[in-house]
Amino acid sequence: MRAAVVHEVGAPFVIEDIELAPTGPHDVRVKMVASGVCHSDLSVQKGAIPFMFPTVLGHEGAGIVVEVGEAVTRVVPGDHVVLTWMPACRRCFWCLRGQVMLCDVGLAQSLSGAYATVRGTPLVRGLGTATFGEETLVPEGEVVPVDPSVPLELAALVGCALATGVGAVWNTAHVPPASTVAVVGCGGVGLSVIQGARLAGASTIVAVDRVASKLELARAMGATAIVDASAEDAVAAVRAHTGGRGADFGFEVVGRSETIRTVFAAVRRGGTAVLVGAGSPAEQVSFTAFELFVDAKTVMGCVYGSTDADRDFPVLVDLVRQGAIDAEGLVTRRIGLDDVNDAFRAMEAGEVARSVIVYDNDGAGTVNKTP
Ligand SMILES: [Zn+2]
Ligand SMILES: [Zn+2]
Repeated sequence: MRAAVVHEVGAPFVIEDIELAPTGPHDVRVKMVASGVCHSDLSVQKGAIPFMFPTVLGHEGAGIVVEVGEAVTRVVPGDHVVLTWMPACRRCFWCLRGQVMLCDVGLAQSLSGAYATVRGTPLVRGLGTATFGEETLVPEGEVVPVDPSVPLELAALVGCALATGVGAVWNTAHVPPASTVAVVGCGGVGLSVIQGARLAGASTIVAVDRVASKLELARAMGATAIVDASAEDAVAAVRAHTGGRGADFGFEVVGRSETIRTVFAAVRRGGTAVLVGAGSPAEQVSFTAFELFVDAKTVMGCVYGSTDADRDFPVLVDLVRQGAIDAEGLVTRRIGLDDVNDAFRAMEAGEVARSVIVYDNDGAGTVNKTP
């Protein structure tokens, strides 16, 4: 079966035939139906987020179970599933404290061993999931069964963008009704933060980006004001929309020091800055000791929207089914696996919110391509 292999840091995606390992007793083999293209894949490919190579990336996928190991109990062949890159063991220090997004046991299992080989060379399961292939093989804890009436090309977005963005509002920050919210960075995750804030009952949602098309999408998804940071001062604009004080909550969805500083400055005294974007270990952010104490602001790290996939995925998929969450609006382009390099170019160029790979169920060519 075909997959997009990255052989070393910085190398392009090469579409080639790979061979999955035999399905172990606790493994599930999934025929992928769709996979979103997320900025974190780009960060791994470029080395900004450290990882192992060669690998098959992709971590926002959904598909249909085709084979299960003899000890697997949670799914059977034919089940529709969304993959999670942060499976919970339910027994470790973190899981027992309700912080399953920090489960190191599940993460270690998802990254251990070769899940497949390419011409005899072992492949690491990229971000634990490897959804840039026609099939993947994952530990049982990484598949969450979902309502089969929801199209899998929309359900796939629950696996990262929606879980991270909506979860950042609901699980990480616990934004109460009538809050004022600023969101800096309006890609797939940022637009999901906006939808989470809308559903949480935020009174004001200020979307900040440098790309006009993303700002229009932000407005369609619930932003009450938009700010083009290429044309105006983002901090002053957010303050202007929040009574001159700044927002109660600010969400940084880029992962860069400059935008982290912007969000910190754009929240009010006593407000909360939530860092959602996946930053690099090389990116330094500095604060003065004075400003950290005197304005009593809270800075919160946010991994995967503090998501518990087993708890949250079925809810998010149901909200997509109801239309309360607009997943279709996040999809800028449907592409084939062969188009993955161009999808990353388009993402870097700011042309898309999300490209979604839709796998041809006949195993060749592409389907549902939009111009
Ligand atoms: Zn992602
Ligand atoms: Zn655990």
